[in-house]
Order: sequence, then C-alpha cells, then structure tokens
Amino acid sequence: MVKTPEEEHPVKAFGWAARDTSGILSPFHFSRRETGEKDVKLKILYCGVCHSDLHSVKNETGRVTYPVLPGHEIAGVVTEIGSKVTKVKVGDKVGVGCMAGSCRSCENCANDLENYCSKMILTYRSKYFDGTPTYGGYSDIMVCDEHFVVCWPENMPLDAGCPLLCAGVTTYSPLKYFGLDKPGTHVGIIGLGGLGHAAVKFAKAFGAKVTVISTNPNKKDEAIKNLGVDSFLVSHDQDQMQAAAGTMDGILDTVSAHHPVQPLLNLLKPSGKLIILGVIPKPLELPVFPLLSGRKIVAGSGIGGMKETQEMIDFAAKHNITADVEVIPMNYINKAMERLEKADVKYRFVIDIAGTLKAE
Ligand code: NAP
Ligand code: ZN
Ligand code: ZN
Repeated sequence: MVKTPEEEHPVKAFGWAARDTSGILSPFHFSRRETGEKDVKLKILYCGVCHSDLHSVKNETGRVTYPVLPGHEIAGVVTEIGSKVTKVKVGDKVGVGCMAGSCRSCENCANDLENYCSKMILTYRSKYFDGTPTYGGYSDIMVCDEHFVVCWPENMPLDAGCPLLCAGVTTYSPLKYFGLDKPGTHVGIIGLGGLGHAAVKFAKAFGAKVTVISTNPNKKDEAIKNLGVDSFLVSHDQDQMQAAAGTMDGILDTVSAHHPVQPLLNLLKPSGKLIILGVIPKPLELPVFPLLSGRKIVAGSGIGGMKETQEMIDFAAKHNITADVEVIPMNYINKAMERLEKADVKYRFVIDIAGTLKAE
C-alpha cells in the first residue's frame, strides 16, 4: 500500500508545498524519519528563498515530482542528536544547505566534492536511500545526517546568514576554483540577485575589482554605495558594453533565464573565463569565434562540497559577510515568488519559519 507523506515516517512535520506547476504553495502535513545514530534533528528558524526554489515549484527543469516542499538555505537549532553524532550538540546553531546525502565512497565524495557525486541527494525534490522523498526547509523541523550539517559561526546572524548556504557557496566555490580570488583580478558578475550580490561580497573580500552587469539601471547607485561595486554596466547599453570589452579576467553568470552569451565573452580578456551558474533549461547559444580568438573558457559550477561550505561560512563570519535580506512571514511566500520572478528583491527573501509558520 502506498503511504501518504504523513505516514512515511514516525515524526510528524509541517510546512508549505506546491502541488502542481502553478507553483502555488500551501500548508502541507508530512513526516520526518526518527533521529538515527548519525542524525541531527533541528528546529528550523529561518530559510532563504533561492531562485532554484522557484524553478522547482514550477517544474521549469522538468524533473520534479509533486508535492515539492522547497528550501535549501536552512538555519536552525539542534534539538536532538543520534548516539554516534560528534559534530554538534543539542542547543547548537546549525545550517543545512542544498545536500542531504551522497554515497560517501566515490572519488568525488573522497575529495570533498559530494556536490558532484552521482548519488548526491538534494535537500528537497530528491529521494533518500530508503526511497522516500526529501522535503526542504519551508517546514518546522529537519532531520539530517551530521555530515551534511554546517556548524554555525558564533557571530553569524541566522536570518542574514542562511542564504550563504546556497547563494554563498555557489559563488565562493567558482571564485576560488577558477582563480578569481586574487587581489587585483577583475571579476564581472552578471545578474544582481541572491547569488550575484553574494558573489560581489566574496569577490570584494578577496580583493578583486568587481563590475556588475545588470539589466536594471536602477540597481546602480545602491550597488556602488552599499555593496562597494567598482563599476556597473547595463547589459543592453551597447556603448557601455563596448567600452568594457576585453577587460575582465572572469565572469560569474548568475542569470536565471535564457540570455545571449556573446556580449559576455566580449567582456573577457584573452584566457578569460565565463562561469555559468544559472539553472537554464534551454541550451545557450555558444559562438566559437570569440572563444578561439582569445583562448576563452566557458564552464559551469554547482554549489560546493561540505568542507568548502564550512570554509565559506567561516570566511564570511571572519569578513563580516552576510546576505542583504528581506525577512518575510511564511504566508507571504506566494507573493515573494511573484516578486522573485520579476527580480524585485534586495537581495534575498528569508522566511521567518519559527516566528510565522503555524500548523493549520
Ligand atoms: P535571483 O535572485 O532571481 O537573481 C537572478 C538575477 O538574474 C536577477 O536579479 C536579474 O538581475 C537577472 N535576470 C533575471 N532574469 C533575467 C533575464 N531574463 N535576462 C537577464 N538577466 C536576468 O536568482 P538567484 O537565486 O540568484 O539564482 C540565480 C540562478 O542560479 C537561478 O537560475 C538559480 O536556479 C541558479 N542557482 C544555481 C546554483 C548552482 O549550483 N549552479 C545554485 C543556486 C542557484 P538584474 O536585475 O541585475 O539583471
Ligand atoms: Zn539555491
Ligand atoms: Zn559519492
């Protein structure tokens, strides 16, 4: 007999989930597994709203099974630990990001690249090894293997810190891996949203010169004044784009929708790198001449491993990096998704779960 989400596990849980491609979220009763010997149980306090949540509730990538209960920027407090847990204790503040499991034995896992493990389990819209669906952080509690729990730095706020668990590591990791973390490097960031503003903060902390490339000229003043961006290009302004041609060592492309790549390749110096981070279902058009004539690289990058996620949040705490957030109540989520679709948020919605999620 097929079990309902409430019957799958012994521990009752509650959150908000989407039931179909309308993406509309509404109250949802389900269950979590009992705390296993290597598991950490947490009360969720805050959860960030990533654009991947929006792609997922609307099934824009074509791979989801409903109901979808999103949320992978989770901050909370430990309420129970299994007998073999050594990493945290009850009462500790912790985070859970995009991953809830991986095989732990392949070459990628052995190299702290669980994010590239072929058996990686996403925090939501995946299946655990027992075949039950994973549900994310728009919910009251979470049970997670301790390996996938992030220890929370003392001075890091939970609300403004939780977006770092996805937006932070997704930008920190490629800046480091592709050598864009050196002082004086000229880094372009296209798309000034959740990922984009985190990328700006890390690139600045590494000592890079940062140029934002945006569709929205109204973001310019704030980006320069508050985020410390060195220069700002409006992507549809041909003159501005031409004047900046051949100046950048690398670009992180955080755009969440289909867009032309050639204007970005033109911004790169010879041997420059364009790193795609946006989850874009349709293939992008890749013109080869700008690649050949400048030995340019186009690459992609997906979140980060657990070791690097911990390193990232410790680095952020040391450099006073947090996300700029708009904290919202749970019942604002559908409006928040509408606004996120229109890039109308500075720069991350964060749901006040503990304060506003009420069982209905
Ligand atoms: P977001 O907050 O919505 O930011 C995306 C930004 O892209 C917008 O603020 C906007 O910036 C720009 N943009 C949106 N639509 C555009 C269009 N049609 N043409 C050009 N620019 C457009 O989203 P996010 O949470 O940062 O996520 C960005 C993307 O990364 C999403 O696709 C998400 O799923 C993906 N993602 C990937 C990973 C990974 O591991 N690779 C991890 C997390 C998220 P301007 O207003 O400045 O133009
Ligand atoms: Zn995300
Ligand atoms: Zn593995």
